[in-house]
Amino acid sequence: MAHAAAATGTPLQHHPALPLYTSSRRCASPSPRHRRRTATTLTVRAMAQTSAAVHPGLKEGIAGLYDESSGAWESIWGDHMHHGFYDAGEAASMSDHRRAQIRMIEEALAFAAVPDDAEKKPKKVVDVGCGIGGSSRYLAKKYGAQCNGITLSPVQAERGNALAAEQGLSDKVSFQVADALEQPFSDGRFDLVWSMESGEHMPDKWKFVSELARVAAPGARIIIVTWCHRDLDPSEESLKPDELNLLKRICDAYYLPDWCSPSDYVKIAKSLSLEDIKTADWSENVAPFWPAVIKSAVTWKGLTSLLRSGWKTIRGAMVMPLMIQGYKKGLIKFTIITCRKPETV
Ligand code: SAH
Repeated sequence: MAHAAAATGTPLQHHPALPLYTSSRRCASPSPRHRRRTATTLTVRAMAQTSAAVHPGLKEGIAGLYDESSGAWESIWGDHMHHGFYDAGEAASMSDHRRAQIRMIEEALAFAAVPDDAEKKPKKVVDVGCGIGGSSRYLAKKYGAQCNGITLSPVQAERGNALAAEQGLSDKVSFQVADALEQPFSDGRFDLVWSMESGEHMPDKWKFVSELARVAAPGARIIIVTWCHRDLDPSEESLKPDELNLLKRICDAYYLPDWCSPSDYVKIAKSLSLEDIKTADWSENVAPFWPAVIKSAVTWKGLTSLLRSGWKTIRGAMVMPLMIQGYKKGLIKFTIITCRKPETV
């Protein structure tokens, strides 16, 4: 999850590369299908590359944020640094939150129809944007799988490995500092590719998804749970100015680059020939989460942990009410996107 971030709204719709799509479509190419795919790929790619180029210092900022804030988060909320999943309209009590965070993992696995049986269950998992490794340890225990996690934060990687050792999981899970956009893994290595609330930090959404697809084995499932902005209406060319302003304030505090919409992710997945693409809007299911985080932050323990952590963490905490506002306005969409790499490429 981004405990701090920044977005400008509608990168795919707004991007200067948009005319590329139009002109590419006009070019002669061997088949209409190929032409369509090439044009879409070029467009999404060009947009993403521009986006990456305009975020100097982003990686360092993200690493610094999580180096600073992960200890405080763990001491209050434990090792899962993501939203909980609640029944829509449920009034959640503090003691429900860990259960809700585990439920988020289980709901994501169920939505992607990840098999449980001994033969087909995941055996090699990559946890992209792993935090302190809560998901990896959970998946290693659930499936007996080998899990490799990557994060930009050295503090997180070290803590993830220490917790794995404490739980006797060192032979199953390991964490390292690496960039999701240039993963240190060979092609086709993992049968479950997992990204729980890290996509919102990626400045190049096309490269992000294409790296997830590259390291996926043929037939592997890819699960992305992430923050999106709402889809645009057909009559709209961009989000409204007040919406852009709200996202910008969140992004400034949370080291987030441009956001995109759920349908932008679908476009990207299609452009990469991924199969069984499914999305769901779980915004209602995460509604109790931020109010609960705010409540825990204003306890004595919360306040002292925040103050000890430093400015980035405090700034992130100050922006939490804007997340609630974004969900209430229907602007922020908590989204799951799942797909599969084709068996034959
Ligand atoms: N998935 C974890 C943590 C979510 S917090 C959990 O559910 O507990 C977001 C994580 O994304 C952080 O660990 C951060 O370091 C990581 N991240 C953000 N951008 C990244 C990038 N480019 N490469 C690798 N990890 C990244």
